[in-house]
Amino acid sequence: MVSQQEDIFKNVILHAKEYGYIFPSSEIYDGLSAVYDYAQNGVELKRNIREYWWKSMVQMHENIVGIDASIFMHPTTWKASGHVDAFNDPLIDNKDSKKRYRADVLIEDYCEKLHQKALKEIEKAKKRFGEAFDEAQFIETNPCVVEYYAKKKEILERMARGLDSGDLADVKALIEELEIADPDTGSKNWTEVRQFNLMFGTKLGASTDTAMDLYLRPETAQGIFVNFLNVQKTGRMKIPFGIAQTGKAFRNEIVARQFIFRMREFEQMEMQFFVKPGEEMKYYEYWKDTRLKWHLSLGMGAENYRYHDHEKLAHYANAATDIEFNFPFGFKELEGIHSRMDFDLKAHEQFSGKKLQFFDNETNSSYVPYVVETSVGLDRMFLSIFSKSLQEETLEDGLTRTVLKLPAVLAPTKAAILPLVKKDGLPEIAQEIMEDLKWDFNVAYDEKDAVGRRYRRADALGTPFCITVDHQTLEDKTVTIRHRDTMKQDRVAIVDLRTLINEEVSIKNWLKRAM
Ligand code: ATP
Repeated sequence: MVSQQEDIFKNVILHAKEYGYIFPSSEIYDGLSAVYDYAQNGVELKRNIREYWWKSMVQMHENIVGIDASIFMHPTTWKASGHVDAFNDPLIDNKDSKKRYRADVLIEDYCEKLHQKALKEIEKAKKRFGEAFDEAQFIETNPCVVEYYAKKKEILERMARGLDSGDLADVKALIEELEIADPDTGSKNWTEVRQFNLMFGTKLGASTDTAMDLYLRPETAQGIFVNFLNVQKTGRMKIPFGIAQTGKAFRNEIVARQFIFRMREFEQMEMQFFVKPGEEMKYYEYWKDTRLKWHLSLGMGAENYRYHDHEKLAHYANAATDIEFNFPFGFKELEGIHSRMDFDLKAHEQFSGKKLQFFDNETNSSYVPYVVETSVGLDRMFLSIFSKSLQEETLEDGLTRTVLKLPAVLAPTKAAILPLVKKDGLPEIAQEIMEDLKWDFNVAYDEKDAVGRRYRRADALGTPFCITVDHQTLEDKTVTIRHRDTMKQDRVAIVDLRTLINEEVSIKNWLKRAM
């Protein structure tokens, strides 16, 4: 990471702590690596993101239903899913720094640099040629750009071959040939590449003889597959249909140094869409498009999202893409969309001996449906929104303010209600407004400090509105409503507050942008 990015990222982490969004886990004992707790404001933001996802997936699609499966599952689940044998990451240690890395990530980061170099050439040419610039033609014909992209492709393909065939010696050779150095120390003194299984094991049962070995689930998807038949039958679902769920997942990540981007305990929001074999590409394209629109509806800027189609497909997938986000440390995966064919249901049929099929009344025959999956990390969503929303602004008077421009629909507190002074009956009116609005919105009362400081506090907390009760309120039952992003203040009647706030924070109004 270059240092300006590092500063931004450090600032995000500090702000998240100072304003009650995220704390390191068990901090009084010096914390636990890559484990974090959501604090009083963080828990609200996280709940709101989850709700925004759930509404768009479950409530807005009549052919999608939700479930909440257990974290513990029968251990054979993980044999069938392939996680026991293949849920590995290739790790490599630097002998000098003793730091551990994921070999694939080192190589992917190298390729990202090639990609950035190509983009720079394109930007330069854009400036040079102005209006007449034909970007597509330039990408196809400029020798530098062509070479950067060809090299990137060749490297990623070679890595994929090495990982797929288990030729880890070649993955190490690739790292050496590219002269990839330890990002922290610059050392190129590497160990061999080894595979490392990411599942956490635990035991079920009281006595050591009879205890059963279990895993903490590394993804929520398998809870959906094992419930496929129950949901299909009891919900009388017809293909195509989807099952959604949100919940905790656990992975013993090798390298977890990026705050809540990569945690050992995290939360996923997944949806498996069951389709007729042969129709999967149609739905893959549909979900690719639909999920990107959902992200864009939150207004974080289209330039901060991109698709990354996989060169290396997992053995169960015939198409896969990531929606990447421009995090403070660069573009990284936010969500995965995978066409998984019938791999999961077939494997569970084989291991359980149960038929996991759909009976098609039209053709009078049964088949194992194909699956298109959308899988987004709730914590990564949180980080994407939180990091882009945090801004330092220089105001007209030359002063600066820190403002957390969270999408109003997701903000933990929708409005702060402030009596201008702590006397003359103003606090009482402010309390009345609060009592009334709290039935519909999360609102906060704040009477401490000068009103300007209270505005700044609300800005830094991400609260979209400040409602100020002043002496004019006593006369005409109006208040000022201040907008966090523009700092504009309007005089409005107290009776109109509910409608005004609702207009800006309603899930309906935000989600409609995704349609
Ligand atoms: P990565 O390549 O970053 O390890 P992945 O491809 O293993 O991610 P998936 O298995 O596709 O991730 O999981 C789906 C989503 O779950 C990811 O897009 C990400 O948002 C989230 N996720 C995965 N691992 C973690 C983690 N350790 N911490 C937080 N979120 C995670």
